[in-house]
Amino acid sequence: MLSLPAPLRHALRLRCPRCGTGRLFAGWFRMEPRCPACGLDFRREPGFYLGSIYINYGVTALTTIALYGLLVLGAGCSAEQALAACLAVAVALPMWLFRYARAFLLAIDSSVNSEPSSVPGDTGGGLTDAQLSSHRTNDGQAGCAMGIALTLVLVFALLMAAVTLWFAVGPGSQGGVWDDGGLMEEPG
Ligand SMILES: [Zn+2]
Repeated sequence: MLSLPAPLRHALRLRCPRCGTGRLFAGWFRMEPRCPACGLDFRREPGFYLGSIYINYGVTALTTIALYGLLVLGAGCSAEQALAACLAVAVALPMWLFRYARAFLLAIDSSVNSEPSSVPGDTGGGLTDAQLSSHRTNDGQAGCAMGIALTLVLVFALLMAAVTLWFAVGPGSQGGVWDDGGLMEEPG
C-alpha cells in the first residue's frame, strides 16, 4: 500500500538504502561505515550528515507545535503544563529521531544517485566499476539537490519557529508578563 521509494522504506527500518538488509547503525548514535550485507559505503563527505539536523529540527518543531495545540485547545491543559510537555518532547524526540533523520538523508542521497541496476527484487551483490564511477559523477547533482532540499527544510523550520513564537507570545491575555517590568516604562 505504501508507494514510497524503496530507499525511503528501508530508511524507516534503519536499513541500507540499496539492499534493505544491512543495518545502518551499530549503536544508538554510531553508524556502520559500510553496509554489512552489500558493502555500500555509508560514509559521505564531511558535513553531509549535518543536514539531518534540519530534518530533525523540522519534525520536532512541527510535532511540538501540534502537541501544544492539542494539549491547550484540545485537552484543556494550562499553557504551563503544555509547555512542560512540549519541552520534554523537544528534548527526547530529536534523540529518537537522530538515526531516522540520518537514514532518511542517506536514502535521499541514494535515490538521487539512482542505479541503473535497481530492478525490483535485486538485492544488490555489489556495484561494478562503471556503476561506481557513475555514482561519483552524480555526486555533484546530489549535492545540489540536497542543498535545495535543505534550504526548503530550513525555511520551513524558520516558519515553524515563527509560529512557535506566536504561540508563546500571542495568547498573552492570561499572563500579562509583558505588561510589567521595564519594557513598558516611559523613557526617562
Ligand atoms: Zn546494503
